[in-house]
Amino acid sequence: MLNDTYPYYLAGKPVFANTDLEVTDKFSGKVATRVALADTQAIDAGITAAVESQAAMAAFAPYRRQQVLMHCVQRFTERAEEMAIALCIEAGKPIKDSRGEVSRLIDTFRVAAEEAVRIGGEVMNLEISARAKGYRGMWKRVPIGPCSLIAPFNFPLNLAAHKIAPAIAAGCTWVMKPASRTPIGALIIGEVLAETDLPDGVFSILPAHRDGADLFTEDDRLKLLSFTGSPDVGWMLKAKAGRKKVVLELGGNAAVIVDADQKNNLDHVVERVIFGAYYQSGQSCIGVQRVLVHADIYDQFRDRFVAAVKALKMGDPRKEETFIGPMISESEAVRLEGWIDAAVTAGAHLLQGGSRDGTMLEPSVLEDVPTNVKLHAEEAFGPVASLYRFDDFEDALEQVNASRFGLQAGIFSNDVHKAMRAWDVLEVGGVVINDVPSWRVDNMPYGGVKDSGLGREGVRFAIEDMTEIRLLVIRDP
Ligand code: NAD
Repeated sequence: MLNDTYPYYLAGKPVFANTDLEVTDKFSGKVATRVALADTQAIDAGITAAVESQAAMAAFAPYRRQQVLMHCVQRFTERAEEMAIALCIEAGKPIKDSRGEVSRLIDTFRVAAEEAVRIGGEVMNLEISARAKGYRGMWKRVPIGPCSLIAPFNFPLNLAAHKIAPAIAAGCTWVMKPASRTPIGALIIGEVLAETDLPDGVFSILPAHRDGADLFTEDDRLKLLSFTGSPDVGWMLKAKAGRKKVVLELGGNAAVIVDADQKNNLDHVVERVIFGAYYQSGQSCIGVQRVLVHADIYDQFRDRFVAAVKALKMGDPRKEETFIGPMISESEAVRLEGWIDAAVTAGAHLLQGGSRDGTMLEPSVLEDVPTNVKLHAEEAFGPVASLYRFDDFEDALEQVNASRFGLQAGIFSNDVHKAMRAWDVLEVGGVVINDVPSWRVDNMPYGGVKDSGLGREGVRFAIEDMTEIRLLVIRDP
């Protein structure tokens, strides 16, 4: 269901040069398609086009930006199943999750279409002292300029969309580097954008190897770097980004707290924590990695949880019943298998899973994981969850905070005071009460603190980063 080859998009036009990048079917491991690979010259040309078309894009009226975004909504809706199958192949994402991602892609563009005509400003009272008498102030938002957008492998459509759609709404030109392992989603977005009447040169979508990728970070003509990916790469790129504004959406080892009052709600909680920990093989930045359960209900929770994990269907992501597909690569599966083994050697107990066949890592559950092993302290980014027992809610909050990451946290509790306390003290970008940290819709502010990142996405918030405030002062004659 994929084309034989895909072009890259340079200055809004498809280019079939050097179709050297092989994209594999992540379940079969076979080459599924070939993609045009941008070299340094092409990336430089894309950046030049973005710089030269910025004035035209800024003048492209908000209602026209809205029309472009709504065209995408319509075309993605028409092409939804084809796009879901492409995702399923290139990312190994189970078909149901792939359909879910397409519907989120549509939401993201729809919200951006709404926001495109809402970007405004404020009239201000400047008369804070006698010196300012007779002065009036107002400010508006203007596009920040050409943007560099770098996307990760795990949501090839919707995380590209979280950069592309706000950039169009804000009136910015841009160059995007999709993940080399999953470039097809972004290229299909490019195909649809090429049908619109965006000014010439506004966008380029350029799969690239490392050498070319440096330009996306280092070229000073680009005014903002919006990066989603791993913490090590993100912070390294920030150090090289020069004067650009930098937004980093990085990883985490998200925790969920299940309080004692969930005793009669355990089936529901188990179902949600399983979704949070194992959907798309745990390869989500807000996937549940640490499950903190009150001692009064720990044994009950653990038994139900392990039984439900055992029952999860693993296999071909194209099959409707599949819940767990492959990890993105065998090396990633080997890495995580090694982390599980190391945790067990250090004293953890493996309650379920742990074995691997190629890219397929069994959904795994551990308890008594020591805090000094990678499986506890680092981002697992795979189908594994560790259970921890707590007696006191305040201690559980401290355990959640005892991490170098802070993206989102989930709390299952009926106590509104505990919910407010969690919201007050958890060092994260978002707290989700009565659901898992993995819950997200596409207009909410989304991002992390500590090593998990800098700045927020969620269309309106991305637009804030992609615009500058420009002030006007008028003195009465
Ligand atoms: P990655 O850091 O390996 O790659 C991300 C992107 O950066 C890819 O396009 C990659 O090709 C590019 N890249 C890598 N090195 C580069 C360099 N030197 N210069 C320029 N570009 C470079 O991450 P990944 O494996 O694709 O994605 C998984 C990671 O992303 C996980 O850590 C996950 O938590 C994180 N993530 C975060 C969010 C979020 O919103 N916070 C969402 C999804 C994924």
